[in-house]
Amino acid sequence: MSDSASERLYLSPPSITEAEIDSVVTAMRSGWIAPLGPELDAFERDLAAASGRQHAVALSSGTAALHLSLLALGVGQGSEVVVPTLTFGATAFAVTYVGARPIFLDVEEDSMNLDPAVLESLLERRAATNKLPAAVITVDVFGRTCDYDRILPICARYDIPVICDSAEALGALHGPAAAGSTGVCAIFSFNGNKIITSSGGGAIVTDDADMANNARFRATQSREPFPWYEHEEIGYNYRMSNILASIGRAQLARLPEIVERRRVIRDLYNGGLSDIDGVVLMGDPPWGRWNGWLTTMRFDSTLWPGASTRVRELLERHNIESRPIWKPMHQQPVFAQAESKLTGVADSIFAEGLCLPSGTGMSDKDVDRVVALIKSDLNR
Ligand SMILES: *Cc1c(COP(=O)(O)O)cnc(C)c1O
Repeated sequence: MSDSASERLYLSPPSITEAEIDSVVTAMRSGWIAPLGPELDAFERDLAAASGRQHAVALSSGTAALHLSLLALGVGQGSEVVVPTLTFGATAFAVTYVGARPIFLDVEEDSMNLDPAVLESLLERRAATNKLPAAVITVDVFGRTCDYDRILPICARYDIPVICDSAEALGALHGPAAAGSTGVCAIFSFNGNKIITSSGGGAIVTDDADMANNARFRATQSREPFPWYEHEEIGYNYRMSNILASIGRAQLARLPEIVERRRVIRDLYNGGLSDIDGVVLMGDPPWGRWNGWLTTMRFDSTLWPGASTRVRELLERHNIESRPIWKPMHQQPVFAQAESKLTGVADSIFAEGLCLPSGTGMSDKDVDRVVALIKSDLNR
């Protein structure tokens, strides 16, 4: 065995206990080694409850959930969809799967999420020429909800449906409401490094029964109710399996404890670093409670030029994984032709920001070690 100092400290590894192991074993012994089964049904009930929704549809990934949400809303060839530029590529990729084009909008400082003022001015201009986008996808990035109290009324004024990409935000709160409870639907991801995992998976949550049924139908190859396989539409194989649902269900039961620990980890980082001028550890947005998914920090580039890159490389030399903030979509080669409305905020967050190791299983000592390395780089 290597000593703990030489073991790699990952950004956000899954936290697996006996509860998850027991849950998989029980599911396997039950004989439901199938795409459907009682664990899947129970996971969907638990997810709907956790997000304050009537329905949940568990799927093979968060990306599949975005794809089926867009299809259910009838977004297709030639349409446009608003996407915040600061997100993971999957949000924008899903838009292209249905033949639509993303329009990338800049974000605001408090939450790093879609800037309502930029959204409002885009929609005002587009309404004047009758070229409104078919949908808006908001992203609750790093586990903070968006400023929905401003965004939702703006979209409602123009009758544009909102899909909430809450892939990173399960367990966060918007005021008293659960992340995922806003918009026509919201999606979650249970990929390996998200706040909880099913080893891979996703879900749509919604209050609209037709939308949930539509997503379930397409996710199981659009099979019509005939004895033979009858298809009137293109289908997909996007359902989550019963076995994976059993992992997700055990993880979801531990979500409060995971959120609590990850928030403590951020507070420990903050305690070690907050007295340094020009260094900010992101916390709760003004309107809600962050789920702690990834601790993100910013180094003011006038006081600390180049610090985010230098610190990341220093941590890497000590076998500690950190990562830049999501590279904005308008800077991605694959979206070079896309339209965007920018204020410069996403660019500066990308240049100054860093995601720190935030795993539920990190010890207080691990945090201290990262803090000490960051301070050593800043000569503090
Ligand atoms: C992870 C993620 C997704 C995609 O989820 P997968 O389960 O990996 O397909 C989509 N959007 C955001 C913002 C994400 O972070």
